[in-house]
Amino acid sequence: MAVNLLDYDAAGMLALMAEFGEKPFRGKQLLKWVHQHGESDFAAMTDIAKTFREKLHAGACVKAPAMLAEQVASDGTHKWLLDVGVGNGVETVFIPEDDRGTLCISSQVGCALECTFCSTARQGFNRNLSTGEIIGQLWWANRRLSNETARIGEVTNADSRIVSNVVLMGMGEPLANYDNVVRALRLMLDDNAYGLSRRRVTLSTSGLVPAMDRLRDDCPVALAVSLHASNDRIRDEIVPINRKYPIKELLAACNRYLDKAPRDFVTFEYIMLEGVNDQPEHARELLDIARQVSCKFNLIPFNPFPNSGYNRSSRDAILRFRDVLADGGNVVTVRKTRGDDIDAACGQLAGQVKDKTRRVARLSESQQVVFHKRGHES
Ligand code: SAH
Repeated sequence: MAVNLLDYDAAGMLALMAEFGEKPFRGKQLLKWVHQHGESDFAAMTDIAKTFREKLHAGACVKAPAMLAEQVASDGTHKWLLDVGVGNGVETVFIPEDDRGTLCISSQVGCALECTFCSTARQGFNRNLSTGEIIGQLWWANRRLSNETARIGEVTNADSRIVSNVVLMGMGEPLANYDNVVRALRLMLDDNAYGLSRRRVTLSTSGLVPAMDRLRDDCPVALAVSLHASNDRIRDEIVPINRKYPIKELLAACNRYLDKAPRDFVTFEYIMLEGVNDQPEHARELLDIARQVSCKFNLIPFNPFPNSGYNRSSRDAILRFRDVLADGGNVVTVRKTRGDDIDAACGQLAGQVKDKTRRVARLSESQQVVFHKRGHES
């Protein structure tokens, strides 16, 4: 079977060149062609010897997931559903802003963690994405967006990178797919590939403590942590991985991470759920957390999805909450909801997940119960 060059970071490429009986520098050339020029046709790689190109043609390919659907929101946010085989699809979102373009990429087909407010969790878990499927989202987005802007005459150079920032905040828990995610991160940072600075690549985790420690040593990038609760009682409930790694251990891991992180703070993501975690007393509990870790807060208004069972906190409640944090000397932002008219906002990415875990069966059973009750009532 042909090897997919998108699966190889610099070290992997070196080993692959040895297998092909080629000099190490060919690996760098290939990385540049594939990732910087977005080239998938070996015939076009003109500075590579013809005999090697023929070998590549016979034994390798450059294959990103194919696009199944594209939606563009009224605010310019793009959402792509990408085909990852046998009926499975993952979603990738591009968020254009004045001074940057952020790509939000997925790391798994579905998710095995059971955060109660997240629509990806409802889909259940199918499998980890390969390195090629993760980096393929960036490869594909750059290609697609440069074609688009070239068409409307904004960019003449087909090489110009449109995506300036990457966030691993799409479907899945990136640290639960550690090896493939780290290889993809290395490609994002590699000067022969995307050359993004560590500060412009953010990994978001629900708090897998041992993997946070590994990442710190292997490939530290900017870190966001889905905190979402100010105490263990609430977090145990809505982010169940907290029962394994409670807040105290999570904060200690954040501090260890900061020793080597490219930024001197962790971003705590905090979803605003009406009547669950949005009261001033919760904000005051967060002040105590903020004294223990150098951090910024990003408040995320809950994005609804069918049968979620939650409501978004009111604008007033969010602003009151923000003020308590800010008055306590913290940097707080309220995440703008982007692309919600195409269900591209945080927690709305559902993709297509086949062969899910039993959780989905359980859920649909319980939804059916609700259904019956309603049917009965009406
Ligand atoms: N598993 C990782 C990466 C996913 S990031 C993590 O948990 O961090 C997606 C972000 O959106 C997380 O902060 C997640 O908690 C948040 N989110 C999930 N569901 C949401 C919803 N319905 N509304 C708003 N944000 C949500």
